[in-house]
Amino acid sequence: MREDSIIIIGAGFAGLSAGIYAQMNGYKTKIFESHNLPGGLCTAWKRGDFTIDGCVHWLVGSSPKSGMHEFWREVGVVKEAKFIDLDEFMRYESKDGRTLIFYSDVDRLEKHLLEFSPADKKPIKEFTEGVRMCIGFDRPPESAPLIKKLLTGIKMGMFFMLKGRKIKKWMNITADDFVKQFKDSVLREAFLQIWIPEFSMFFMLFTFAFLHNKNAGYPMGGSMPLSRALEKRYRELGGEIHYGKKVEKVLTQNDKAVGVKLADGSEHFSDIVVSAADGYNTIFKMLDGKYTDEKTKLPYEKWKTFPSLVYIGIGVGKTFDNEPKTVSGVCFELDKPVEIADWKTKSLTVHIFNQDPFFAPQGKTVLTVMIPSDYKYWFDLSKDKEKYREEKENIKNTVLEILEQRFPGLKEKVEVTDVATPVTFERYTGNWKGSFEGWLITPENSHVVMKPMSQSLPGLKNFYMCGQWVEPGGGLPTGVMSGRRLIKSLCKTDKKKFRTTDA
Ligand SMILES: Cc1cc2nc3c(=O)[nH]c(=O)nc-3n(C[C@H](O)[C@H](O)[C@H](O)COP(=O)(O)OP(=O)(O)OC[C@H]3O[C@@H](n4cnc5c(N)ncnc54)[C@H](O)[C@@H]3O)c2cc1C
Repeated sequence: MREDSIIIIGAGFAGLSAGIYAQMNGYKTKIFESHNLPGGLCTAWKRGDFTIDGCVHWLVGSSPKSGMHEFWREVGVVKEAKFIDLDEFMRYESKDGRTLIFYSDVDRLEKHLLEFSPADKKPIKEFTEGVRMCIGFDRPPESAPLIKKLLTGIKMGMFFMLKGRKIKKWMNITADDFVKQFKDSVLREAFLQIWIPEFSMFFMLFTFAFLHNKNAGYPMGGSMPLSRALEKRYRELGGEIHYGKKVEKVLTQNDKAVGVKLADGSEHFSDIVVSAADGYNTIFKMLDGKYTDEKTKLPYEKWKTFPSLVYIGIGVGKTFDNEPKTVSGVCFELDKPVEIADWKTKSLTVHIFNQDPFFAPQGKTVLTVMIPSDYKYWFDLSKDKEKYREEKENIKNTVLEILEQRFPGLKEKVEVTDVATPVTFERYTGNWKGSFEGWLITPENSHVVMKPMSQSLPGLKNFYMCGQWVEPGGGLPTGVMSGRRLIKSLCKTDKKKFRTTDA
């Protein structure tokens, strides 16, 4: 029987969740977090009177009917959050004046897409039928009565058996490839703006299935209240968090993890060490790459990551009452293509925070713009502080000019601006190459959906990992499930019954 103290590295969703479930199951845990806030990537920051939200657009599992809702009850999010379901995921406005609306309701979406481009009936139907296929899919809550769990298990088994070939087809095609079927170029462009073009289409189907089921709601107040809810739950269960404490090394003895060494030089010991921090830094820096094999290294050598971002926050002294309230934003085609940093684009998506009064004083609004940008470009630039600052200023000005075309008069109402780069993301969260969500699921690695990545490293005992670098596809629910999966398996090893409670 193993002893019961655990050191957790990182207070993101995965680290906090590991801590919460470990505390529920009698382990004594301590989290060391390098930042001075909980939540990791799920964060927000103040600029003047405005709050720039850096993360949550939708939270899968928001519907009480869904199996995933149980996790949000357990980690304390449901107790604190109020969700709203938005009718539109995204809008795409072409420069010839046509507007394509990605409705959350699949029937409405299908009707609209067919009206928009009757000539594309075949791929449109194929897409919406794919969404409908995913609508019926849900995991049974673990707390459900055995009979319900069995029935849902059988239903899911049948789903995979009957739809196996279709699922495989959707897994193995990226958005980039799927859109080639569309005759209408606007439809083609619009679909590419929904998700990352290299992402497997299966996840786009699921996004719309979750939206249709009202199971991907927006939590009022945005990211920080979610992170605070997890932190509160963890502390209430007796967990200890130490902020401003960066872990530099995982200490090992005879191929067993025994504790951590912090950047301040102090050493802390425990029976088990869990890293819920970035995978690359954990494996290759904190552990000096000593516990790896081909399988561990493969993703870091071959897989694609979610891109790093230039993230622009703008506080504007006006409201946007006549603009749609969307999950992801309004994307509009530009008069002519532009180059922003290393990114060439024909359109720009702006997220208008008009669905939630939390972020700006009355009569004012926050807008955010997310631009994919290469980490190395910014890393190199950041060595010259002046050039780095200049590039951020250029980007801010370019984006404001572009927004002015779509929202005339906006520029003179701008009160605050903020530009975060891939280097900023890395500085505050440690994520490798500033990636915002870890591994992309592409046709090359789609097998991970059926066979999860290992949470341990070859040859190292008493050490585990959780979070987006061992759960391809990333996201907040995945973070929580990852911490839960880990503690459940620890309980199994320790021959304990895994127990959970609702907050
Ligand atoms: C702009 C944006 C929008 C997003 N939108 C959504 C959305 O709408 N819905 C959704 O579900 N997901 C969304 N995500 C993704 C989601 O935020 C992440 O996938 C998730 O938060 C990852 O959680 P994690 O705990 O695995 O990792 P992280 O959040 O990266 O947490 C890791 C933690 O470890 C700490 N750490 C790192 N190194 C060390 C060290 N050496 N010592 C101590 N501490 C360390 C970090 O500071 C951090 O707190 C979005 C992300 C971004 C950036």
